[in-house]
Amino acid sequence: MNTKKRNFDVLHDGSLTKSVAFTREEREQLGLRGLLPYSVANQDMQVTRVMHGLRRKAYDIERYILLSALQDRNEKLFYKVVIDHIEEVMPLIYTPTVGQACKEFSHIFKRSKGFYITPEDKGEISKILDNWPEKDIRVIVITDGQRILGLGDLGANGMGIPIGKLALYTACAGIKPHQCLPVMLDVGTNNEDILNDVLYLGYPKKRLEGDAYFELVEEFVTTIQKKYPDALIQFEDFLTPNAYALLNKYKERVLCFNDDIQGTASVALAGVYASTRITNTDFKDLKIMFLGAGSAATGIADLMISAFMDAGLTKEEAAKHLWFVDINGLVVSGRDDLMEHNMPYAHDHEQLNFMDSIKSIKPHVLIGATGAPGTFTKAVIEEMAANNERPVVFALSNPTSRAECTAEQAYTWSNGKAIFASGSPFDNVTFNGTEFRPGQGNNAYVFPGIGLGAISCKAKIIPDELFLTAAKTLAQLVKQDDINSGSLYPKLTEIRKLSLEIAIAVADKAFELDLAQIDKPKDLRQFISDYMFDPQY
Ligand code: NAD
Repeated sequence: MNTKKRNFDVLHDGSLTKSVAFTREEREQLGLRGLLPYSVANQDMQVTRVMHGLRRKAYDIERYILLSALQDRNEKLFYKVVIDHIEEVMPLIYTPTVGQACKEFSHIFKRSKGFYITPEDKGEISKILDNWPEKDIRVIVITDGQRILGLGDLGANGMGIPIGKLALYTACAGIKPHQCLPVMLDVGTNNEDILNDVLYLGYPKKRLEGDAYFELVEEFVTTIQKKYPDALIQFEDFLTPNAYALLNKYKERVLCFNDDIQGTASVALAGVYASTRITNTDFKDLKIMFLGAGSAATGIADLMISAFMDAGLTKEEAAKHLWFVDINGLVVSGRDDLMEHNMPYAHDHEQLNFMDSIKSIKPHVLIGATGAPGTFTKAVIEEMAANNERPVVFALSNPTSRAECTAEQAYTWSNGKAIFASGSPFDNVTFNGTEFRPGQGNNAYVFPGIGLGAISCKAKIIPDELFLTAAKTLAQLVKQDDINSGSLYPKLTEIRKLSLEIAIAVADKAFELDLAQIDKPKDLRQFISDYMFDPQY
């Protein structure tokens, strides 16, 4: 091992240690004899030991704490555990368990990870960033904690989100751990319960808002561009209006994106593309209806406009394929309660309720993004099945308890005809002797690969074309086996390969669009896969 460190300095260094897997030679060389039990384990045995410990815990939050401690103690082992057991461990280090971890952040806090900026740091962000030990930062995930998952304003307790997302960047796409920077833009919180919590660790004031807020973000972004010019900034879990304001402000001049808007759109579009392989339809002929007209649904529709244009339609023609129904019914022109982002989709049509909208428009694809559970009723699914041989139904609302309908309901009410996908995972369903594996439109299918592709070619920005490319690539990677079992997404166990393919396609597209800032490597695949962090000792 190439280090000058010895004894406990190497044994207790999370990025160097192999713990009981140090060989006899390494123990001799690094002054570890006597500091470890006799047996030399291998990494797989260590993974088994961690999994035993994990499964013995009674609650997921305890599993989260165990894994978080492992990440500090032995980085490579942590990532090996995540990669080898991705389906079991992803929900523990990310949603849904990370939601609980955020709620309890100030109570379970042990060791600081990530970087905190408060209004008191105004004018000094550059100076305090010098305290961060790593200089070669490539991916930054930043939140201000105002809309953490479906949990609302959690203030600085939301730090679990950037930490969790970056762990997925490393596990899924091999971004090197020391090149990741989780950032909490702690501008306060308006959550009274949190402000009254004596253990709260964040900036204990009401949120900074308006110009002062945007100036602080601007200082952060410009500082990052100077200090870490190759870094990608991912905005995460900002309140919808701020999310759009920041994205629109920076997307054309900074290497950045918003996963809630653009990552969600890409993964949903991939699912719709994949569904055409089951329904044998041409994408450009699809009529798509959204229940819910908020940021998630609008983000998906906006990317679908690009997808229809890519298939040969004009922007105006594309919009006509996309229909919205919100809490007040069909989104149509003449309604006086619509927001700016609804306008491109407000068509000339009589205003109808949801059920009558389905009867009148007869969509092929129904996408729910309402946060309103049970809104895909039996009558809704039956109507979709009456109009389509294979109706495509996405119930994207999270968590599971908020889904518009369950997987079982979709299959049962459609008599096994529905092609179903969801935001949160559902177990397999057996209906009339057939086993269906519902696909999960998990953003982790796309954001790590997009990030890897963008940083490896040093892309200047990430335009919609790259999210479209990621969606097409992901859809092509869905295997016939997955399709046969009714799933629109590949298995998560394939995630490293999927991320690599997405990264290659994204980087390739960035070169084509003249956005890359390096010379194109002769072998792009080799170049990107050589970069990827491998947690094997
Ligand atoms: P939002 O608050 O911006 O929008 C919600 C929309 O739903 C609004 O237009 C509202 O009018 C509509 N709505 C609410 N109740 C309704 C009802 N009963 N009938 C019809 N319309 C109704 O929220 P958002 O950020 O767009 O998120 C919506 C949901 O999408 C959340 O539950 C979130 O978990 C989910 N989501 C999933 C993914 C994913 O699966 N990858 C990603 C992002 C968001």
